[in-house]
Order: sequence, then C-alpha cells, then structure tokens
Amino acid sequence: MPGNRPPKVRSGNEPHPAPSMDPGGRGAWAHSRAALAGLEKLLRCSRCTDILREPVCLGGCEHIFCSNCVSDCVGTCCPVCYTPAWIQDVKINRQLDSVIQLCSKLRNLLHDADSSGRCTFC
Ligand SMILES: [Zn+2]
Ligand SMILES: [Zn+2]
Repeated sequence: MPGNRPPKVRSGNEPHPAPSMDPGGRGAWAHSRAALAGLEKLLRCSRCTDILREPVCLGGCEHIFCSNCVSDCVGTCCPVCYTPAWIQDVKINRQLDSVIQLCSKLRNLLHDADSSGRCTFC
C-alpha cells in the first residue's frame, strides 16, 4: 500500500537525491551515522563483538576476528561455527584493517559534527 507517490520510473543512472535535511541540518548526519553504524556492524569481531583489531579470518568460513581473539584457534577450528580452520599462520587482512581505520576516523568526524553542530568536512 504505497501512498499516492508516483511510480518510480527513473533509471539507476539518475543521481541519488540528496537526503532531505531537517531544519536543524542534522538530517544528513543522522543518515551518515546510520550508514556508518551499518558498516561497523560488519566490522565487528565474531568473538569479542568489538570493532576488529588486526582482522584475521581462519580460512574455512566467513567469520572475521581480531588476531588476539583467535590466536588459540589457528589450525584448529572457528570458535563460532566450528568450521575447521585451514590456516596455520594468522595473517592480518591489511585492506580490511584500513577500512576499519577509515571508519573510526569517520566516526570521529561525525561525532564532532554532531557535538559542535557544524560541518567538519568543509
Ligand atoms: Zn575480537
Ligand atoms: Zn566460522
């Protein structure tokens, strides 16, 4: 039961409409924070549930952990799903690590923007 909005006929090539801002100008930030929260959810350790530190995977499944959290599981199995781990050596995923660093920077920027009420990007 969609309202009386016209059906969407635009192609995917159309630029995404800017998020509508509320009078206080916080709408866009709320939007960014929600997106960041979604991203951070993917960057959490499956064991300690904190944001990953030195992310590693055990090779047999899709779970990702801090290198500290699975140092005892290397060569045995995943502590979450018990899939046998085939790696014998913890190898930190540097790419993922950079994503995590960027996320924490972004979080700080959003936090600053929120507490000072002005945009720190411009
Ligand atoms: Zn952890
Ligand atoms: Zn697993």
